[in-house]
Amino acid sequence: MTFIPLSATLRKTIESKLPVHRLKSCPLCGTLNAEDNESCFSCGWHGTFVRDPEQIRQSLHELVLDCPEIGDILTQRVVGRPSLIQRMLGIFRRDRKRLDISV
Ligand SMILES: [Zn+2]
Repeated sequence: MTFIPLSATLRKTIESKLPVHRLKSCPLCGTLNAEDNESCFSCGWHGTFVRDPEQIRQSLHELVLDCPEIGDILTQRVVGRPSLIQRMLGIFRRDRKRLDISV
């Protein structure tokens, strides 16, 4: 497989959302596993895992290149609950349209 580098933006996003120190790679099958996994979820290996940060980054990049949908998911902006101020502004804007403030 020829390595195709990811864009700098996607690489930065992936690494910020999936910190390499929380991942490890299986030496048998190359599958990325969460650091907390005692055995590889793919092949069941339960010995020493690869924890080299550069190798983990390379595996992440290959995973995203093989499955671009993962990159899309990682780059999607998470929309959270609006803050109290945003909700209050929304109520004010909504109610202002209903009120006749002309004198
Ligand atoms: Zn494995």
